Amino acid sequence: MPVNIEQYKKIVAALGNKAVLVAVSKTKPAEDVRGLYDAGQRDFGENYVQELVDKHTQLPEDIRWHFIGHLQSNKVKYIVPFVHLVHGVDSLKLLKEIDKQAGKLNKLIKVLLQVHIAREETKFGMDETELKAALEEAGQLRHVCISGLMGMASFSGDMDLVRNEFRSLKTLFDKYRPAASAGCEWSTLSMGMSADYAIAVEEGSTMVRIGSLFFGERVYH
Ligand SMILES: *Cc1c(COP(=O)(O)O)cnc(C)c1O
Repeated sequence: MPVNIEQYKKIVAALGNKAVLVAVSKTKPAEDVRGLYDAGQRDFGENYVQELVDKHTQLPEDIRWHFIGHLQSNKVKYIVPFVHLVHGVDSLKLLKEIDKQAGKLNKLIKVLLQVHIAREETKFGMDETELKAALEEAGQLRHVCISGLMGMASFSGDMDLVRNEFRSLKTLFDKYRPAASAGCEWSTLSMGMSADYAIAVEEGSTMVRIGSLFFGERVYH
């Protein structure tokens, strides 16, 4: 299926400067990324380390690569040299490993802490206690910058439920702003995907992650 440029342009116009658009290209070939790149898109999101590393080497240097999947600590070193933002940091262990690997390269890596807001048990993310602990710990870490929060709503047609979940994340985002590390901008609330991005933006999202609306449904082998 070709990349849906028309849909892309509509969404870019609708978002305006309310939220940054991350185009989620996981499982899609580099040529599809190229298609959206040629239409002007620069922020792309990937879920798998090897796939991200491969696409990074094949595609233009000025792409800002977002890692949005579940990151294993032993794979951090492969993406730290070039990643723009790591969205799904859901443990202190992972946060410390990113700090360690970034330190070796003398870099500062921007991350978002993932909060569990959905009803499903299967989704990753911290609860509020873990979030607080991570923010306290971050004061000691010199090579990570916690720039905000990320969350995924329930996979549900109940849009009131989805809206309430986004609202709870926005409440945490505002509540923990004062806890952010000095010199590190608390600016990003990453929430909203193809099915629910409009609601997410209404509820205060500053960054949406949209894949299938542009690239079509994903086929997993
Ligand atoms: C796959 C994925 C998306 C994009 O999902 P679509 O429904 O295709 O827009 C967004 N965020 C995360 C964390 C994802 O894994």
